Amino acid sequence: MNFLKETTMGEVAIGEPNNLQAFETLESNVRLYSRSLPDVFSRARGSVMTTDGGRKVIDFFCGAGALNYGHNNHEIKAAITKYLASDAVVHGLDMATPAKREFMETFNAVILQERGLENYRFQFTGPTGANAVEAALKLSRKITGRQNVISFTHGYHGLSLGAAAVTGGRLFRKSSGVSLSGATFMPYDGYLGPGIDTADYLRKVLLDESSGVDSPAAILVETVQGEGGVNVAGKEWLQSLQAIAKDVEALFIVDDIQMGCGRTGEFFSFEFAGLSPDIVVMSKSLSGYGLPLSMLLIKEGRDAWQSGEHTATFRGNNLALVSATAAVNTFWRSRTFSHAVQDMGELMRHRLDAIASQHGNSFAVRGRGMVLGFDCQIADIAGATTRKAFENGLIIERCGPNDEVVKFLPALTIDLETLNQGIDIFEVSLAETMEQARGA
Ligand SMILES: *Cc1c(COP(=O)(O)O)cnc(C)c1O
Repeated sequence: MNFLKETTMGEVAIGEPNNLQAFETLESNVRLYSRSLPDVFSRARGSVMTTDGGRKVIDFFCGAGALNYGHNNHEIKAAITKYLASDAVVHGLDMATPAKREFMETFNAVILQERGLENYRFQFTGPTGANAVEAALKLSRKITGRQNVISFTHGYHGLSLGAAAVTGGRLFRKSSGVSLSGATFMPYDGYLGPGIDTADYLRKVLLDESSGVDSPAAILVETVQGEGGVNVAGKEWLQSLQAIAKDVEALFIVDDIQMGCGRTGEFFSFEFAGLSPDIVVMSKSLSGYGLPLSMLLIKEGRDAWQSGEHTATFRGNNLALVSATAAVNTFWRSRTFSHAVQDMGELMRHRLDAIASQHGNSFAVRGRGMVLGFDCQIADIAGATTRKAFENGLIIERCGPNDEVVKFLPALTIDLETLNQGIDIFEVSLAETMEQARGA
């Protein structure tokens, strides 16, 4: 079956057989998504990607959260096209440029001050999320003179050594090839079941001089664990974490790399809990266009760096700063966008709950805003469903410790028709999978 034949997205041509041979023979075995999404993608616009053969597929993965505003957004594209055409500075290390000034002033006024988050400094790090996490950890350790960092079960913070040390996944830890140190993992909210407040445990061990857990430089948390299975932390739990960090004189760091930039319905994923972290880590959708851009927001007074102490060649790339400014101007000057994301999130939740209930009690739906996890409990079910979904015209990926959770990350700018079509494809693909599982 092919849903896309009935959509408004135009004629679906059945193209040439996918030519993935060059990728198989030339690219390292480490490649990942060209395997799970076996086709060659040549164009993309909004929520639809077009393959070399002309097949159109709906994108519910959005570059793992790097494309919250969809592919090739027109307003952002116009800004960077104009910038390139003017011969303005694209690469300038971290020299002062009008593009950087405009980004900082715009972000400060439209995002930070509007939310009462005043007095943050911008640190542009190397372009990956992992590099920004490294910078946050280094800065916390420098400020406190402590080594240990509290991170959480199922947490994901990137794969350079320092970031991998605070990441839970065994595959990633093992492949680092050296012993990873400087982190203590604590149970995330809900890890021990609904009746147990794991923040109480954290508080107890951190205040106990004989608990065996070293005093931490920082408490590092994702408010929703994107890679870890769409685990959602509660408001009170997050507030407790911030309070504990204060009490033990550790920095409170929110890794908002995947959940920031509107994903949960507000610009920052921690706004709903009224938090003011010492450091906020941003990357993925920050540039708004899929260009690499990462930064830390450092609370005034915590900016203990010496000049040049954490540096890199590619920091605050000007083209990415221009697209980031355009994204802020396009989407965040009013609350309209935020409300639309919240409404669409509710709609997604209703539909996924309904799909889950069609299949008895085998599935659980979790999430906040427009990030939802459909927990299949069984990895093979999730895997077969996402494979079929791709055949049926939907890009959707899995997460969780065993890849058992189907993760919904549609563009926040998606139109309702395409959103519903994508969910329809998921629904049918799951039904096909369950049918086959019963037959087997
Ligand atoms: C993706 C991600 C990272 C790592 O970012 P990279 O750009 O892949 O290095 C870190 N933290 C979170 C929460 C992420 O989702």
